[in-house]
Amino acid sequence: MTTEIYLDSNATSIVLPAAIAAATDAMGQRYGNPSSTHGTGLKAKVILDEARACAVRLLGVGNGRLMFNSGATEGIQTAVLSALVALRERRDAGEPIGTLLVYGATEHKAVPESLAHWNRLLGLNLTLHKLPVDHNGVHSLKALRDVAPQAAMVCTMAANNETGVISDLAGIEAVLAETGSQALWMVDCVQALGKLKLDLSSTRIDYAPFSGHKLYAPKGIGMLYVRAGTPFTALIMGGGQEAGQRSGTENMAGIAALGAVLAALERGDTFRTAAELSSFRARLADSLRAALPGVVFNNPFDKALPTTLNFSVPGLSSRELMDVFDAAEVRVSAGSACSSSKAAPSYVLDAMGLPLWRSAGAIRMSFGPLADEATIAAACARIERCGAALRASCLIPSDRTAVPHDGLLQLGVEGACSWMVLDAASRSCIVIDPLPEHTARIESYVRCQNYQVQAVVSTLPNAGRAVLVEALGRHFNRAADADAYGWPANAISIQLDNGASAGAIRLGAQLLACVPCGTGDELRAFLLGEADGGSLPAAAVRFAFSARPAQQALGAISNGQTLLCPTRDEQNQFCTSMMSAPAAIVAADAQLDSTALDAFLQAHPDARLVDVREPYEFAATVAPLPAGRMALSVPLSRLAEYASEWLRAEQTPLVFFCRSGNRSMKAALCLRRLGHQHAYSLNGGLALASPLPLAA
Ligand code: PLP
Repeated sequence: MTTEIYLDSNATSIVLPAAIAAATDAMGQRYGNPSSTHGTGLKAKVILDEARACAVRLLGVGNGRLMFNSGATEGIQTAVLSALVALRERRDAGEPIGTLLVYGATEHKAVPESLAHWNRLLGLNLTLHKLPVDHNGVHSLKALRDVAPQAAMVCTMAANNETGVISDLAGIEAVLAETGSQALWMVDCVQALGKLKLDLSSTRIDYAPFSGHKLYAPKGIGMLYVRAGTPFTALIMGGGQEAGQRSGTENMAGIAALGAVLAALERGDTFRTAAELSSFRARLADSLRAALPGVVFNNPFDKALPTTLNFSVPGLSSRELMDVFDAAEVRVSAGSACSSSKAAPSYVLDAMGLPLWRSAGAIRMSFGPLADEATIAAACARIERCGAALRASCLIPSDRTAVPHDGLLQLGVEGACSWMVLDAASRSCIVIDPLPEHTARIESYVRCQNYQVQAVVSTLPNAGRAVLVEALGRHFNRAADADAYGWPANAISIQLDNGASAGAIRLGAQLLACVPCGTGDELRAFLLGEADGGSLPAAAVRFAFSARPAQQALGAISNGQTLLCPTRDEQNQFCTSMMSAPAAIVAADAQLDSTALDAFLQAHPDARLVDVREPYEFAATVAPLPAGRMALSVPLSRLAEYASEWLRAEQTPLVFFCRSGNRSMKAALCLRRLGHQHAYSLNGGLALASPLPLAA
């Protein structure tokens, strides 16, 4: 059995076994309500009191307040509400309060969102002001000095969640003091807990929120520190729990669990030292350097928590890196967990002034102070496996020439696509409608597989092929002049089924013919199929490439099963066919639950399992495939090629699967649209069939 390696601890951590035991005890033996005055209540109250006392000692709370709540987002709300209510009162009393709500450019979104929300709701109308950070991600003290006199509130996190970069809190405090700033100061300590020494009451920090689930306690439990004498307004009113500061019957399981983590921290016998954690980070970084040539680290290790790595790899998107790591069962995240479903650039890395490719392609790898040797060693081995998978797929440079692909390849970018027709036997290929975004990918693919590009053609005139041709260098065949469509002057002349003759390029046993796409039109289409001597019979045309649906123009020279390969693909259809249009495809019919898979495969012994993840994911996979079966690897970029074959053969059931069920659903729908009645997608993908994690 393979195990997941969990390296996403900045998003959330596993729960410490002692914390689970404490929570179980709080729910089982000591289930009472700590506000009850009877014996059962008193037994529960001990848990609450001990956890608080431990937190007070550990964080240096002194005479300040320390209340339990649901987590940092609530703590941030409470701090912002408390500060803004006090500021409004002061202003109403005629005191100067400043005009700015200052927050660090790399704060968690909960901070600016709360500031904007309560500023609006309380009618304060102060100005939100983003405090810049330098290229290391550290707040600019000079910029703070400039605004501190006008600041009503200042919010600066202790350590950043995406990069682990540690703030210069002493420097910030000094600037606030030297400028005589009256600002209330919140420091988000979420990522600092257990990793940085905190002695809160010895600083002028007014508010410090914490979340238990970032350090081995469960989700839904947190704490807020408020300095003695600092204004406070309760966010939640009711039964008066937490000394009236936060009403609602306490989350006793959460408090007990957090208490167990705090006790372990205080004892100092459970977690690794900073030096040990730094050596773990160094080993992971060395593995990344060896496996992923050109990797750059986006966080300065000497200014960051030793538990966070943030990196980008030239030529690879964060999606591709996420996918290959996930296939190798190494859980990491793209930028921050909140934004990793969208491949948006990281605002944290943007604020540090990093170029777009780094901020949009960033991966965060984070572990916790419980990490152990075995997990780090296993992670290093998996990183090596990912590197090998990416090299074999030509996504990163390799000394060895990869095994050449054959047939049709579709590269897609946001609704548009480029196509490549590859003939492995002759190592020659043709590129159709290349997009500028694909130049680097096509170039490295061709070089890595040692292909010779016979032609770069487009369905539109003057479509800007020059950049690709230039990039291809000696891999481009410059023997002949080409027209505005890139069509070579030395193309041969062939016969089509409508009697017309057309120019064609020979590629192994296949012909690519160039035909007008409608009359009096500047658009062209390309037909691809097996040659029959000097002609391309309609029945042999497997693919037609065109910039728009062209049934009318191509009907007589192709056939009902010819796949139409679009140059735009907004709906992720991959390809359509001359006769495909069944509008009534019902997505639900194409879904197969993983619990029903075994029975389905027994009922259909001829069914094929098809993995539609990319080849590097297939190669990096360590988990057993669904139902312990072998699977055919057909990435979506090769779907058109395989679909053409499947549609021509007798229809056997096809069960597509991927990581989450998203890509496989697109594949199943594509096949159903094309008329294949037995195409299914495995619901929930591989993710729902994975074993439990080995966490760091
Ligand atoms: N602040 C920081 C720095 C964080 O990393 C997070 C969580 O990602 C939060 C605040 C919000 O914490 P929670 O979602 O537990 O309320």
